[in-house]
Amino acid sequence: MDMQIEQQNSRLRSADNPKINIPIPENVLRRLLELTSDNASRPSNEWMDFASCSTLEPSVMYPVDDLGIQTAKECCEVCPVRAECLANSIINKENYGIWGGLTPSERNKLTRKLPTLRIIK
Ligand code: SF4
Repeated sequence: MDMQIEQQNSRLRSADNPKINIPIPENVLRRLLELTSDNASRPSNEWMDFASCSTLEPSVMYPVDDLGIQTAKECCEVCPVRAECLANSIINKENYGIWGGLTPSERNKLTRKLPTLRIIK
């Protein structure tokens, strides 16, 4: 079944996600919408066992400069539990660090847009 993500029928543009202008792959966004929907059961913490950053120093995911942010984001790009991580950070209102490949300001922007996004089957 083909699925689309629509934001109030608008068509915003960006390099990474043409529909919401936030650097997040569409497959991750789709999963995030499922995980944060009103009727979704909240994710357990089992996803953490598969985190790409699990063997890194925790400070790597709390970078203090642009190079550090890029390094942390590269780790998230190949992480198999990016959507679960991102959902967890949004649900728990994490204000610091890179979660799901997004900075705090990117997560805030995404959080504000989430109510207007929906999956169309
Ligand atoms: S998405 Fe990034 S911060 Fe989240 S678990 Fe994966 S590597 Fe760690």
